[in-house]
Amino acid sequence: MDRLSKVIIFSAPSGSGKSTLIRHLMGLGLNLHFSVSATSRPPRAGERNGVDYFFLSPEEFKTRIAQGDFLEYEEVYAGRYYGTLREQVDRQLAAGENVVCDVDVLGGCNIKQCYGDRALSVFIQPPSTVALRERLEARGTETPEAIEKRIARAEFELSFAPRFDTVVVNDDLEKAQAEVADKVRAFLKA
Ligand code: ADP
Ligand code: 5GP
Repeated sequence: MDRLSKVIIFSAPSGSGKSTLIRHLMGLGLNLHFSVSATSRPPRAGERNGVDYFFLSPEEFKTRIAQGDFLEYEEVYAGRYYGTLREQVDRQLAAGENVVCDVDVLGGCNIKQCYGDRALSVFIQPPSTVALRERLEARGTETPEAIEKRIARAEFELSFAPRFDTVVVNDDLEKAQAEVADKVRAFLKA
């Protein structure tokens, strides 16, 4: 019999290395498929509509909220909405795919509640807020103001770690990659 497909949720303060870890995990041949979220923030250089996000105007986003299209959504930063499309996740699960969600801490807790034991929620923790700032600066994708907003939110986000099924500290990247892979493999097998 086929195993029931599952949901893996990743949350972390911005700059922790969550996207880097997800990218590595998705390359391991575990039948993992990314849940493409919608957002009202503008695309970064290199980001593609329908691949990284569905990029919507704030008006389009609000229409989709009113239509009940989101499994969950949050205004993660002022005026910047992000949401998981119900139809995306349900279609992927029905197709037997394991779904990976990259969401903020509130979204992570909400999705975990929706799927219960069918979901594993993973919190990626940076070694320190100093490292977080250094990583955001080195990534070079945010304006100085956006970096400050992200750092300011980090303390709030870090307080959510105990609500997740498991926490991985991303200090040494290779070690964190191996830890994430081990935990996800074990969950998919269980
Ligand atoms: P997030 O998705 O959590 O916002 P990213 O995956 O974009 O974070 O990582 C932020 C920056 O930090 C990127 O430039 C990435 O290459 C770098 N990075 C990721 N993990 C580590 C690590 N363990 N040590 C040092 N730099 C890292
Ligand atoms: P970024 O702008 O760096 O791509 O994402 C900012 C934050 O929004 C990250 O913490 C990311 O995980 C979160 N995020 C992305 N998509 C969603 C979503 O669908 N729902 C929620 N709640 N958060 C999301």
